[in-house]
Amino acid sequence: MKAFSYVTVQTAASAVELVREQGRFLAGGMDLLGEMKEGLVEPALLVNVKALPGTREVVASPKNVSIGANVTLTTLADHPEIRRLLPGLAQAAEEAGSPQMRNVATVGGNLAQHSRCWYYRQRDVRCMKKGGPRCFARGGENKYHSLFTKTMCLSPCVSNLAVALAALDASVVVQRGANTVTLTLAQLYEKAWTEAKSHHSLAPDDLIVRVEVPVVAGALSVYVKIAEKNDFDWALVSCAAAGRIEGGTFRDVRLALGSVAAIPWQMKEVSAFLEGKSATAETAAGAADILLRDAEPREHNGFKVPLAKALVKRALLALAT
Ligand SMILES: Cc1cc2nc3c(=O)[nH]c(=O)nc-3n(C[C@H](O)[C@H](O)[C@H](O)COP(=O)(O)OP(=O)(O)OC[C@H]3O[C@@H](n4cnc5c(N)ncnc54)[C@H](O)[C@@H]3O)c2cc1C
Repeated sequence: MKAFSYVTVQTAASAVELVREQGRFLAGGMDLLGEMKEGLVEPALLVNVKALPGTREVVASPKNVSIGANVTLTTLADHPEIRRLLPGLAQAAEEAGSPQMRNVATVGGNLAQHSRCWYYRQRDVRCMKKGGPRCFARGGENKYHSLFTKTMCLSPCVSNLAVALAALDASVVVQRGANTVTLTLAQLYEKAWTEAKSHHSLAPDDLIVRVEVPVVAGALSVYVKIAEKNDFDWALVSCAAAGRIEGGTFRDVRLALGSVAAIPWQMKEVSAFLEGKSATAETAAGAADILLRDAEPREHNGFKVPLAKALVKRALLALAT
């Protein structure tokens, strides 16, 4: 690992200013330190953002929940207001990594974590994500890769929180230069769909400050995941659902799938299909068929299609019970 400098900042403005020159934001370090040890990135400066005032707090009001970027996944999973108002988000946090990791991993770091593709993670492989000419997963070992493969790079978004927050229609507040901008989850990841080198839409000096989640009266949420190991493992496929059940019918339901595309996979058509329909297994199966309609599995990941359909059904029926 190359030598680097380290600084702790007290304001978002100084964090953004300092990180510009070959720096990286450091939160829990669960992802970034791994990348440095593996020789994938060599920042000259680590800008520790964990001491930024107000970024470790969860503030719930009747209309929304504000979650600071440095709230840990353990805090998120255990927080009584998150569990009461946004149970799907608490479940997503609880299902990430291991207890030790969740104690240090943060909301901002989880959303900005980089690719887990084994070609990207191999220092000596110059894949498209590193500016190389090919995505080696496309014709290679693609068991863990995207099902929605219109992108140049097949590395999927595996952040649990991204999937739950997409279903919850959350927005992400980002310090960009001297201003703050608010991004939807779709905007936070859209660049990963269009540019092979990007894993999200943040510029290197864009700092996530907090996440805002709307609270809708009577709304329910759920997150379900299938992984090869119960703990300490990313999802093969995950699914989040949020919405209301009124008189046994689905209302304003949003679904999102994880680990199947470069972005949390959502289709407005699915919400339209579910609207006002009976909350039954048949309806859920219909929604799953629509959501997976455009899947184009590669040689080794076709098994994800039935897994994803099963998770969609499980999530929708869990909302209804
Ligand atoms: C074995 C293992 C299993 C895992 N399983 C899962 C899993 O199942 N689900 C899951 O979602 N994750 C999983 N993870 C990933 C883990 O959750 C993330 O690595 C962690 O959440 C990152 O948070 P951090 O605070 O440690 O980020 P860091 O490592 O500090 O940062 C990660 C990236 O985000 C950037 N960053 C940090 N904070 C900000 C900010 N405020 N604004 C902008 N950029 C920022 C950093 O510069 C860096 O590029 C797993 C990791 C491991 C090692």
